[in-house]
Amino acid sequence: QSPGSKKEERSEMPVSKNAETVLERRYLIRDESGKVTETVEGLFHRVAGSIAGADKPYTGGASTEALEKEFYEAMTNLEFLPNSPTLMNAGRPLGQLSACFVLPVADSMEDIFEAVKQAALIHKSGGGTGFSFSRLRPCGSAVKSTGGVASGPISFMRVFNMATEAVKQGGTRRGANMGILRVDHPDILEFIDCKKNNADITNFNISVGITEEFMAAVIADGEYDLVDPSTKKVVGSLGAKMVYDKIVEGAWRNGEPGIIFLDRLNRDNVVPGQGPIESTNPCGEQPLLPYESCNLGSINLVKMLKQSKNGCEVDWEKLEKTVRTAVHFLDNVIDVNKYPLDKIDETTKATRKIGLGVMGFADMLLLRGISYNSDEGVAAAREIMSFINRVGHEASEELAQQRGAFPLFEESILKDGAARRNSTVTTIAPTGTLSIIAGCSSGVEPVFAYVFIRNVMDGTELIEVNPVLKQLLEERGLYSDELMRRISKEGTIAHIEEIPEDIRRVFVCAHDVTPEYHVKMQAAFQEYTDNAVSKTVNFGHTATLEDVSQVYMLAYRLGCKGVTIYRDGSRDSQVLNIGKVN
Ligand code: UDP
Repeated sequence: QSPGSKKEERSEMPVSKNAETVLERRYLIRDESGKVTETVEGLFHRVAGSIAGADKPYTGGASTEALEKEFYEAMTNLEFLPNSPTLMNAGRPLGQLSACFVLPVADSMEDIFEAVKQAALIHKSGGGTGFSFSRLRPCGSAVKSTGGVASGPISFMRVFNMATEAVKQGGTRRGANMGILRVDHPDILEFIDCKKNNADITNFNISVGITEEFMAAVIADGEYDLVDPSTKKVVGSLGAKMVYDKIVEGAWRNGEPGIIFLDRLNRDNVVPGQGPIESTNPCGEQPLLPYESCNLGSINLVKMLKQSKNGCEVDWEKLEKTVRTAVHFLDNVIDVNKYPLDKIDETTKATRKIGLGVMGFADMLLLRGISYNSDEGVAAAREIMSFINRVGHEASEELAQQRGAFPLFEESILKDGAARRNSTVTTIAPTGTLSIIAGCSSGVEPVFAYVFIRNVMDGTELIEVNPVLKQLLEERGLYSDELMRRISKEGTIAHIEEIPEDIRRVFVCAHDVTPEYHVKMQAAFQEYTDNAVSKTVNFGHTATLEDVSQVYMLAYRLGCKGVTIYRDGSRDSQVLNIGKVN
C-alpha cells in the first residue's frame, strides 16, 4: 500500500519505523481506493482538535486553540496517548472512541441475540466487549415455550464467538471478548474446560467469577453450593478444592481460564444501587456495569524523567501537568464520543468513568537503575501510581467544580467526599498498540526480551535491541552483533558473564522476574488504581501446578482483582517466543 504522498512532513514526529507502520496500516485515513490521505501529524491534529472542541459548552464557546495545542503536544511528544479507538475515530464520521464495553446477557432468546447484535456493532467500531453468562439457565434445563431443553451458557458463547469471527473481517480491529461465569453456576466445570483446545472459542478470554464464599470453602477444604440462576434454587454442590484445582490446571495448561474476584469488583462498585458489576472488558482491567463503556489513556513514564546530579529521576512537576492534561482529555472524550447504542450513551454519561494508566514502567526502572524483580521496584510502582491516582482525583474534582459532578454522584459511595467529575479515574491498560506507537515497554509489564532477531523476507537478519540496553552497552564498549545474537538465543542476559553484574541485575526480562514479583507488582499498582490492572504473570515452561496455585493464593491475599497467568510454550502458536520473531 502507498504510504501517502506527504512522507517528508512526517519526519518531525519522533516515532519509530514500527510505529509508522502500525499507524499507516490501521489508523491513518484512507480514500476509497485505499490510499492513505493523512499524515501522522494530521492524525494527531484531527484527534486534538476534536477532543478539545468538547470544552466549548463549558466555556461559553471560547476558543479551544490553546487546549488543542496542549493535547497535540502531549500526544506528539509521546507523553500521553488515548486508547486506539480514539486515535482511529476522533473527528471522523464513526466517532466511537472507547475501548471497553460490558453488555448484559439475559436469559431469553431475544436478549441473547440482541446482545450478539450489539457486540457486533461495538466490534465494528474498534471496541472490545465483556459479558457475564451467569444469568443463563444451565444446560439441560427446561425451555417452557418449546418444551425443549436449554443448551446452556457455553453453547451460546460459541455463537458470540462466531459472530465476532465474521465481523472481524470488516472492522477497524479484531473484536475481543471477555466471557465470565460465576463459580456457583451449575455449568462451571464445562466452562473451565471450554478452551482446553487452543483452537476453540478463540475470540474470547475467559475468567471464572470467584466469590469470597468460594475462597473460604477452598481454604477450609469444604463444599459450596451451585445455584440455578433462573430459579435461584440450590441444585447441587461441589468440592471447592476440586474446582479450584481444575481452574489452576486449566491456567497451567494454556492460560485459560483466568480468575476475577467478583466481590472485590463490587466492593469498588461506585454506584451499587444501579446493580452489581458482573464483568470486565476483554483484557480484565476495566470492570463495568451492563451497558457501561469506558475510554482509557496512558502516560508514557519514560517521558516523565529528568537528569539530575544523582542520575535519572522522576520529573514530578511534568508528571503532574501531564496527569491533569490527560484527565481533562479523557473527560472530554465522554462528551465527544458517538456511542453505538442510546442505552450505552446514557449509562456511560451517568457515571463518567475514565481509565488513566501508564506505559513504559519497566523502561523507566531501567533508566533509573532499579530492578523490576525487587522490593525497590515494587516501591517505585507504589510511589508513581499513588501520585498519579491522587493528582488524577484532584483534577477530576476541579473539573466537577467547573462542569458538575457525574450525575449519579449523590447516590454513589463517594458522596461524602469532594464532588468528582468521574466516578473512576485510573485503570492500567495493556497498551498493546499504544506502546508500539510510543516505542516503550507495554503497560506495567517487564520487558519481554531485550533482543529480537527478525528474519526479513529477502533472507537478511535484522537485530532489534532494546534502546536503553543498547546505549548502555555502547557506552561501555561492550556492544557487538555477536553478543546480541547470544542474548537473543538465551532469551535473557541473566547468565551472560561478559555483561557486568550491575547491568544484569537491572536488565531483567519477563522470565527472570519470579512469579511472586509479578504478583507483588500487580498488587502494588492495584492499591492505587480505581479500576483494575492488566497484567500477565509469566511462568517458565517447567512450572508446576503447585507454583500456579501459590500465585493465585498470593494474588488473593495481596488484594488483586484478578489473575492471568501464562506458562511459556503452553499454546501452540504464541505471539512472542523469546528472542524469535517471524
Ligand atoms: N481491545 C480490543 N481489541 C484489540 C485490542 C484491544 O477490543 O485487538 C480493547 C480491549 O477492551 C482491551 C482494551 O482495548 O482491554 C485496551 O487494550 P490495549 O491497551 O492493548 O489497546 P491499545 O489502546 O494499546 O490499542
